[in-house]
Amino acid sequence: MQKSATQSFLELTAQQDFLGEIRAYLAEHFAAPPLAFVHSYGCQQSVYDGERYKGLLALMGYGFTDDPKNASLILYNTCAVRENAEQRVFGNVGALKGLKKKNPELVIGLAGCMTEQPHVAEKLKMSYPYVDLVMGANAFGRLPELLYRVLIGKKRSIRRDPSDDLTLYEDVPVIHECDFKAFVPITYGCDNFCSYCIVPYVRGRERSRRPEDVLAEVRGLVEKGCKEITLLGQNVNSYGKGLEPPIHFAELLRRVNDLPGEFKIRFMTSHPKDCTHELIDAIAECNKVAKHLHLPVQSGSDRILKAMNRHYEIGQYRELIAYAREKVPGITLTSDIIVGFPGETREDFEETLRLIQDVRYHALFTFIYSLRSGTAAEHLPDPIPAEEKSRWFRELLDAQGAIGGELLKDYVGKTIIVLAESYAPETGLLSCRSDGNLIVETEGREDMVGQFIKVTVTEAMNWALRAKTAE
Ligand code: SAH
Ligand code: SF4
Repeated sequence: MQKSATQSFLELTAQQDFLGEIRAYLAEHFAAPPLAFVHSYGCQQSVYDGERYKGLLALMGYGFTDDPKNASLILYNTCAVRENAEQRVFGNVGALKGLKKKNPELVIGLAGCMTEQPHVAEKLKMSYPYVDLVMGANAFGRLPELLYRVLIGKKRSIRRDPSDDLTLYEDVPVIHECDFKAFVPITYGCDNFCSYCIVPYVRGRERSRRPEDVLAEVRGLVEKGCKEITLLGQNVNSYGKGLEPPIHFAELLRRVNDLPGEFKIRFMTSHPKDCTHELIDAIAECNKVAKHLHLPVQSGSDRILKAMNRHYEIGQYRELIAYAREKVPGITLTSDIIVGFPGETREDFEETLRLIQDVRYHALFTFIYSLRSGTAAEHLPDPIPAEEKSRWFRELLDAQGAIGGELLKDYVGKTIIVLAESYAPETGLLSCRSDGNLIVETEGREDMVGQFIKVTVTEAMNWALRAKTAE
């Protein structure tokens, strides 16, 4: 396997040559810049990858459209974490057959995690002949070369191999979906091999960006007016492995916090096994870091956590939560839970219910276990019927709905700072996010979008808070 290394994308001469050739080709063949439709499924990392693809496509001379019917290039950036995400992609790709028939020049590409799985790549190759370009998440650095092959070479281009290229590309132009919020990856890949999860197989080994590269990217974004930065990694808490000089995530967080400017720092995702008191201390002490901890627990049962290969016990997890509550009063806590892992019994599930009653999360991201081929859990006996798992799942949602609704009531009467994210002219309401990542609606104007505003909470609804502008 290749070792990871940092590389300036702009200095990759071969790829820059392909990029130049495509630019010349497009200028010659299109009267106006051709349009690309780029759509990302899945996690924030995938969204960021989509923004990087757009950055490269813009360098090649593409403009962008939100309507696939107007596009000369359609690129779906896919997710493999659960089966339903994959089915949606296959459905959407199937629907493109007609478009391709009408316009044989249309280039259809599939990128990202899903394509890194051998059986998916095979299916695309054999059953979707109108898909021209298939590229795994770690083939990113070859996009110009692969697209050149399709556009100019008039050949299908298929490149997938998660251990293929572990390079950390810097200086990639990124076209952000939003100008006041941005994702900034700090690690790529994952080494944890949770037994249910496909990510380590499709994203390859974990590697950390150099702190100076992360800081430069954040600084540049803040200078351009960005108000919220989310540091991304499958397990941000293991940031720094293999870097010289050594650095831990808590230290990186402090350095980002020391950058000048008014902005909020978030991060995802924290793995409990690597979540330290130092990290919680940093959250407490850094004024720009949101007082929110998303700490996926997955299950409340030690037996299931062991089978999931999570490397912590519920006692340790509860201790972290207690420490976070003590050090960061009022902290918002959220988590991920999988229901119906193979071999999970009613007793195990009830331990999960007990945990959520005790912790009282503000919100949960809940998933029914989805079998991923090639993972360690693939062949575990899974005797609980799907209907039973669905019943447990609804039970969990109901329990959490009641807890989340109760917790929101504590905010009524409080004055808080929120970031206005969008405006609905039909209602005159701004949709905002609190420091703890809660949704807050308040009356306002369109020109307040992207600004921090001070509001007083007037009402707790089931899923969000209502507020008015504070005096
Ligand atoms: N790296 C992050 C999460 C990545 S995937 C972490 O470890 O927390 C996001 C969430 O999807 C996971 O936390 C898990 O709850 C869920 N998930 C992952 N694989 C799954 C599977 N096979 N079936 C159901 N849910 C899954
Ligand atoms: Fe998947 Fe576990 Fe890695 Fe998260 S930490 S991406 S759940 S293997």
